[in-house]
Formats: sequence, structure tokens, C-alpha cells
Amino acid sequence: MTTFAFGAATDVGRVRHSNQDHFLVTDPMFVVADGMGGHNGGEIAAEIAVETLAAAQDLPSIDALIEWVQKANSEIVTRARVAPDLRGMGTTVCVLVGLTAAGPHRLGVANVGDSRLYRLTAEGLNQHTEDHSLVEALVRDGRLTKAEAANHPQRNIVTRALGIDEKVLVDAWELVPVQGDRYLLCSDGLFGEIGPTEIHGVLTELASPQDAADDLVARACAAGGRDNVTVVVVDVVAADSVDEPPADRVSAVRKALPDGVLNPESPEPSAGSVPDDPHPDEIIVAAPTAVFTWRLIAFVSAVVVVLAILITSITVYARSNYFIEVEGDSVVIYQGRSGGVLWFDPTVEDRIEFDPALIDGGALAALTEDLGFDALDEAEAFADDLLEQADSAAP
Ligand code: MG
Repeated sequence: MTTFAFGAATDVGRVRHSNQDHFLVTDPMFVVADGMGGHNGGEIAAEIAVETLAAAQDLPSIDALIEWVQKANSEIVTRARVAPDLRGMGTTVCVLVGLTAAGPHRLGVANVGDSRLYRLTAEGLNQHTEDHSLVEALVRDGRLTKAEAANHPQRNIVTRALGIDEKVLVDAWELVPVQGDRYLLCSDGLFGEIGPTEIHGVLTELASPQDAADDLVARACAAGGRDNVTVVVVDVVAADSVDEPPADRVSAVRKALPDGVLNPESPEPSAGSVPDDPHPDEIIVAAPTAVFTWRLIAFVSAVVVVLAILITSITVYARSNYFIEVEGDSVVIYQGRSGGVLWFDPTVEDRIEFDPALIDGGALAALTEDLGFDALDEAEAFADDLLEQADSAAP
């Protein structure tokens, strides 16, 4: 049996007007949810996530945990559907739970978004979860360093969240609990303000999990408090004895595909053999569910509409005119603008020949210069009149 000691703290920070973070500490389940979305949508999304997970009792496995995270996602999507002002709300979720299956006791972890789970052991502090964020993707691609990502203006953009799509990809792990291990769940308001060295120092120095949580939140606020900050600290006070716990504590990994089917390629990796990035394709697949997708679609649509209006205007301007030029012994009627407009060259619509022995082409050209007509028949009528008058005036 595993027993825990825990503490939690949250603060609105020094910039935001409302706290859209929510947390849950109901032994043996611990959750941090960081809501996002206009008005109070983010707060509601995070609250729904936490309330849904609070109803989960006696989870035997990480598969069951994933089902509850999917259920939380569905609840948020459904709520947004019936309340248009909540559309676009979403939340991260990071869960640590004591599983109840018979046999060796295990912990379950699930993560969606950029809240984090860290683990402090005698070896040091490790970030266990991977952020589903734009900057993390850029770091993975080698286009940003970790240090650049920490201060990047778009560091708040997440590529996965609950409530955005009916299907959400959930990362999940089964861990071996080890007495003395300390877990930290937090929203990005913590690690966006203070670095891992300072976090490690607090978690090492303060024995009480509540004191550690309070101190970390206070430090994040003192360092700027640009975002809501939430911290949950969970100590493994007692656990089933294990002869040799794996260094990374992992005994199973899941990446639950959007339809809830579990990836068959890695059902039960052996203890301690977590690939760095078990299924990179799934991460790419997950990217389109980004919370900013609707904004991208709106932006692209707006650009397309503006371009269509621009092209139509240019086309109308370029082609809605007729003009006359005298070329040798012909009066030529063109559609378009003299000299052309962009890719629209004038086209010949009519050609009327005259006898250069009787009519002075140069005089005709002077009479037609800079003239424009709205219609072909107007231009033709003008040219006919002109030729008739020149013809009758000829000697
Ligand atoms: Mg946040």
C-alpha cells in the first residue's frame, strides 16, 4: 500500500485578474488543470476537468485513468457546444493517482498540455512529462534552445488541450512508487518564472509538502507572477518495498490514440525502458488539435477573402475600358488599359481600315488620344463617326 503526504497552493499572480488554474488533492488523486479561453471559459474548463476526475474512484490501471481524462474532455466539449460564449475554452490536465489494482502497488500519471509533473529522488529533480506546447515542438526540432523557449513570446501556446476536439491524445505512464520520492505537479506559471535549480532547492530544503508548495508559489509571484501559478507537492511516505526500483520509476507507458484505442506497439515496455519519444508521429497528428486552430482558420479565411476582393477589383479595373489607337492604315479598338495593368494586357476587339491617301492617320491619332469608352459599341461608333467626318473632309 502506498501512503502520501501532500500540500497545495495557488495564486492568481500579479498580472491576471482571475485565476483559471484549478487543482485537486483528494488522496490518492492529485490534479493540476490550467484553463485557457476568453472571458471565464478557461476557468470553467479547468473546473470541469477537476470535477470530472474527482468522481473517479478506485482506478485500477492507467487505461482506466485515460478513460476518465477522455471523459473530462467530452464534458468540456459538450458544455462548450451548448454555451456559445464558452466556445474555444480548454484546459491542460496533469494527474498523479495511486492505482488500486491487486499486486504490486503502482502510480498512474496522465498528461495533456503544458502543465508538468516533476519527480525528486536522491538522484535529483527530473521533469517527467513532456510539454505539448509550440516552443517545446520547436526545441524538439532544434529550432529553439531550452533557454530561448523559456522566454519565447509564444511560450503559452499549447498544442494539446482538453475541450478543443472530441478526440484528445493522452500521454500516460504507470510508475513504481518508492518511499521518499517527492512529486511536484504545477502549472506553467511556476516554471515560467523560476528555474529548475530554484525549484530543486525548495523541494530539497522544505520537508513539509505544504510549506514547499506555499514557498514555490510565493517565489513565482515574487519573480513576476505573469501567470496564474499552481503547485501540488506529493510525498510518497510509504510504499510496497521493491528490491531495485527502476531509475525512472516507469513500469508501463501509454499514448492513447484519439479514438481511445491504445497503441498496440508499446503495451507493456519493460521497467525502465521508456523511449525518449515513443511515437513521434502521434505528436504530429496531435498538433492540428491546437487551441489556436480556429484562429488560424479565421486568419486564412480573411486573407483569402481580401485577396479575392483585390483580384476582382483589379480585373474589373483592367478590363472595363476600351480605347482607340491608330496603327498604320487601321483604327484599332482595344479592350483594357493602354500599357496594360499587371498581368492584363489589352486585347484587340476591332480593326477598321482606312485609305491613308485620303485620311491623315496622325490627325486621327491626335483625336483619339487619351479617350476611354465603357463599351465596345461606343468605341466603334466613335471610330466610325471620326472616319466618316475625315472622309467627307478629304479633298
Ligand atoms: Mg498558465
